[in-house]
Amino acid sequence: MDRVIFHCDLNSFYASVELLSHPELRHLPVAVCGDPASRHGIILAKNEPAKAFQVKTAETIWQAKRKCPNLVLLPAHHGVYQEYSKKVNALYQEFTDLVEPFGIDESWLDVTGTLHLFGGDAVALANQLRDEIRSRFGLTISVGVSFNKVFAKLGSDYKKPDATTLITRENFPEIVWPLPVTDLLYVGRAAAQTFEKFGIRTIGDLAVFDREHLFDLLGKNGAQLHDFASGADKSPVAPANQYTPPKSVGNGYTFPKNLQGRDEIKAGIAQLADQVAVRLRKHCMKCQGISLAIRSPEFRDISRQTRLDPPTDLARELTQAAVELADSCWNMSNPVRALTVTAIYLIPSEEAGAQLDLFSTAQDEKRRRLEKLEGTLDAIRAKYGPGAIAPASTPRDPKQEHHAPPPGGGM
Ligand SMILES: [Mg+2]
Repeated sequence: MDRVIFHCDLNSFYASVELLSHPELRHLPVAVCGDPASRHGIILAKNEPAKAFQVKTAETIWQAKRKCPNLVLLPAHHGVYQEYSKKVNALYQEFTDLVEPFGIDESWLDVTGTLHLFGGDAVALANQLRDEIRSRFGLTISVGVSFNKVFAKLGSDYKKPDATTLITRENFPEIVWPLPVTDLLYVGRAAAQTFEKFGIRTIGDLAVFDREHLFDLLGKNGAQLHDFASGADKSPVAPANQYTPPKSVGNGYTFPKNLQGRDEIKAGIAQLADQVAVRLRKHCMKCQGISLAIRSPEFRDISRQTRLDPPTDLARELTQAAVELADSCWNMSNPVRALTVTAIYLIPSEEAGAQLDLFSTAQDEKRRRLEKLEGTLDAIRAKYGPGAIAPASTPRDPKQEHHAPPPGGGM
């Protein structure tokens, strides 16, 4: 299944935060700068009215004042920006555990596995996210929605402030390709000079340029930039280091061929549940519920959820519960195009464990052995890579692309 990735960019971040405590300045040209007393101080951020005067980030106060004599200068409060950044990322993590900050005011979100919990419409969710940022913090974001990180980032830049831009496999040549090649992530000065020499001015020019030739010119980096331009970026959204426990952990996949019959559907669920269990254990969380979404070849979606007691992080138990859901809501002789398995109602593993210790039965003993076994499998995967072990019943290539290591060292 194509991933659903958001790139969220806080608009004029420093200036917007400063204006929260100076609402009376909102409609005047305002810039935040290192040292307002010094003519050589540097502009760190500016609001929309200042942008209209061509005030630019990183120019000196002196340069900016020449273009905009009435520019209001405010000193920077870096601690406050850090606080807002943390809070905004915590809000993002209410929608997915896969949140990767990129600097203080930008983050990628991979919502592939959780989108269906919020209505299933990517643009509607992006709009909801914008509304929540505005109402909770008084700040605005622009959101790029796409199937890879590079295009999502271009999307958040495409229209701002406070806008959503959807870049799909169908519309990207129209939206992305006319943009200057220097807008592309990681086009540094060296690459830009080489591109210039070969007449590559737009992202589209780069995409149609011969990939082998680019490899000869710029090495691995050149090939990677070519992939970026042509929509082939597969780098994963890496969860934040700054840890907030996830609210849900989901995994979805569109199968290359429709699943036919109960055995194939069960095997498909098992592979997805296996990945979900691995990620739950990585977060040291167990789930008290599971949700299953099924898509038919006609794009009819159905989703059901159920409570789990006791809480679990075991692939086998997740699979069993999800298969029971499928049995209850789906005619198992109908073909299935895509499946999503999502662990919901998460609690920390140690809390779940404390409940369990109250009754030690043979059943629990068996469960503990299973937990130990799946823990061992995690260790093997960590050592030999995620492909080292797959569920016994894997029918077809199950690997989810966003868990593969990033090409060429990633981003
Ligand atoms: Mg920004």
